[in-house]
Amino acid sequence: MDAPWPTSATRFAGVIGWPVAHSLSPSMHNAAFRALGLDWAYLAFPIEPDHLEPAVRGLFHAGCSGLSVTIPHKQAVLACCDEVTPAVDAIGAANTLVPLGDGRVRGDNTDAEGFLRALDEAAPVDLDGQDVLMVGAGGAAKAIAFALATRGARLRVANRTRERAAALGEPVEFTREAMEAAAADCVMVVNATSLGMGTDEVPAELPLDALGPGTVAYDIVYRREPTPWLDAAAARGARTVDGLGMLLHQGAAAFAQWTGTEPPVDAMRAGLTAG
Ligand code: NAP
Repeated sequence: MDAPWPTSATRFAGVIGWPVAHSLSPSMHNAAFRALGLDWAYLAFPIEPDHLEPAVRGLFHAGCSGLSVTIPHKQAVLACCDEVTPAVDAIGAANTLVPLGDGRVRGDNTDAEGFLRALDEAAPVDLDGQDVLMVGAGGAAKAIAFALATRGARLRVANRTRERAAALGEPVEFTREAMEAAAADCVMVVNATSLGMGTDEVPAELPLDALGPGTVAYDIVYRREPTPWLDAAAARGARTVDGLGMLLHQGAAAFAQWTGTEPPVDAMRAGLTAG
């Protein structure tokens, strides 16, 4: 018979969000713990915004070994951080919390690192001095803008709410025509909106006609199969990067901080697609 598990020695980590039941992070991180034989468990904690700070403080006082942070808590959770990394300072949001002992917490943002690692893995491209078009200017887009700046890219941004676009790069009108014209001069187009989630149609808002061989199409929306926009871009010859790679690598960077161990990336990838 299998030994009883979990035991009083089992360590725990998890993801906080509201809602959080849809999260793929538990299957990804639990696959990693199993692959390394670590006696850890990763859980999903639905935390209402009004209860965020006491819940986070309580989890760490109860021995939590690490938290991922998802919508809508990435900015509000900064109030729970005793220190933050330069990435959090630049982006203004945290997606990873690391215990420092005595209930103290460090906030980090691994979305930027995850975005770049997935790009380097799936469609390496020299961005230095090159134009990139990003559609979207929400929380994830801020992390991507930070990441692209570290590669020397010139960022052009189209967003439904124009003022947010102007804060991240050179604004482009949020019309299909303006976005197609901008995309024609860009080595990469990033969809950093939630357009394309839960639909089998290519979102009519996103540029497509200008994509082709020589362009990278990067959709951060994640699902187990490629999004229709990525499929359509690939059919035009573009190299594509999906959101699962970013999710994987931001999680791997968090895992390394919580466990002090090299993350088993292949096992995590298998956990993501199987879970
Ligand atoms: P967010 O802060 O709420 O931002 C949402 C963005 O989408 C904003 O730019 C918003 O425009 C735009 N948008 C939403 N609905 C739209 C519509 N109907 N038409 C046009 N624009 C629309 O969310 P977020 O955290 O940045 O997340 C954005 C997407 O990225 C989500 O799908 C999320 O799951 C995904 N994501 C993926 C990863 C990954 O690891 N792959 C990581 C983080 C996020 P306005 O400013 O005009 O509202």
